[in-house]
Amino acid sequence: MPDKLALPPEDFSRLAQLGVDFVAEYYGSLAYQPVFVPSTAEAIRKLVEEPLPQSGAAFPELLGVIRDVVSRYNRHSAHPRCFGYICSPGAPITAISHMIAAALNINLTCWRSAPSGTEIEHVAVNWLKEMLGYPADAAGLLVSGGSMANFAALAAARSAKAPGNAVRDGMSAGPRMCAYVSEEGHFSIAKAAGMLGMGEQSVRQIKTDGKLRIDLADLESRVQQDRAAGHLPFCVVANAGTTATGAFDPLGDLADFARRHNLWLHVDAAYGGFAALAPAARHLFACIAEADSVALDPHKWLYGPMGCGCVLYKDPETARAAFSHDAEYTRRIGLVRDEAFAFWDYGPELSRPFRALDLWLLIKYVGAAALAEAVESNIACAKHLEKLVENSDDFEMLATVELSIFCFRYRPRGFKGDLDALNEQTLVRLQRDGSSYVSNARIRGQFALRGCVLNYRTTMDDMQTLLDDVRRVCLV
Ligand SMILES: *Cc1c(COP(=O)(O)O)cnc(C)c1O
Repeated sequence: MPDKLALPPEDFSRLAQLGVDFVAEYYGSLAYQPVFVPSTAEAIRKLVEEPLPQSGAAFPELLGVIRDVVSRYNRHSAHPRCFGYICSPGAPITAISHMIAAALNINLTCWRSAPSGTEIEHVAVNWLKEMLGYPADAAGLLVSGGSMANFAALAAARSAKAPGNAVRDGMSAGPRMCAYVSEEGHFSIAKAAGMLGMGEQSVRQIKTDGKLRIDLADLESRVQQDRAAGHLPFCVVANAGTTATGAFDPLGDLADFARRHNLWLHVDAAYGGFAALAPAARHLFACIAEADSVALDPHKWLYGPMGCGCVLYKDPETARAAFSHDAEYTRRIGLVRDEAFAFWDYGPELSRPFRALDLWLLIKYVGAAALAEAVESNIACAKHLEKLVENSDDFEMLATVELSIFCFRYRPRGFKGDLDALNEQTLVRLQRDGSSYVSNARIRGQFALRGCVLNYRTTMDDMQTLLDDVRRVCLV
């Protein structure tokens, strides 16, 4: 037996200790290192590219490469001023659950293969429902992320609303099935429609109002138009926090609309779902229980580790209709009811990692109250930035802060040039500078510096530092 592969327990302890020391040091250094170190693909490749190694190297040497290359040339999502995109910092406690899950290497296909793992996942998913205010008897499972959750939900919607058996017979016969989402919706909705054979064009992009929420009048007229043309409207997608600005569609109005038109209501809450924990945003979720399905991303605003999404289905039967399969090699022999449960009946994957251990440990160890406090504080930081911008005479907001995303731009006093070009340049300079990191968005045609507060380490002071950094790097 090759020792390096089997790694005797004493050796494991020794190596793991080096790994643990590295991780602890990393967490300790976060606030002092740049959020990002500029580099090039070629430079990084030169440091790691080599032919297939035939014999193993020493672990300390490899840990050195992880320190000097992998960690150094990483954009540090756990840095308190990493505001770009929707970057979750993760939580240190899940670095521990990740290691344990890797050791147990449980495969969560079904109860038979993972009795304890399956029950842990049920419990963790039930807690997510509770956080959201979603019915306790809904079905749900963890998936790789929000894109996969949206895909799974649309697959369930399709088989629930198709005139025939879409899973068995495909989409070639019958009317074009149309889904509706605002122009601000995430691209994974259109991508899902493409993969499901409905075509990306079947996802109708609906106009938005002054707060970038779906325009109900435009929605109504697009559905009427599609009906008149002989198409089959089947699903409306509500954004519970858009990726660009955090805009939140009115769930109650959309639930009424969906009921009147016999549409499936899917809520894309991949970014905003866990805002339900925060008193400041709780009211937005009043009608969430009416959704037929919900996409969540614990790896975003629940601070979970990357690769953890969740899809919920109000009626478990709709998920089974889309996904359940029986093959001889998966037949559950001698098991009934709860012990016959299989995750593959509810989603696209068969082999599945133990994502639930991360969630279970995170929620049990930290507690929902502290998670809620962190979410609330993130919202407060974004609203604080909005105040700072509004009280300044050289910045302006380009969208209202709804949750924890802020879109603004620099507008130096007396500047008469092209503001889009100035802010684009500022973005690049800021990203290279390393003190604060934001990304970009286009809001009604205007270039915006866009940030999202999604880190429990971020403080009000960091918001001021961001504005100071913009002023410092911009050389007008
Ligand atoms: C991030 C996001 C997604 C996609 O989620 P992934 O986990 O990146 O696949 C979908 N919808 C919204 C609104 C998002 O913010």
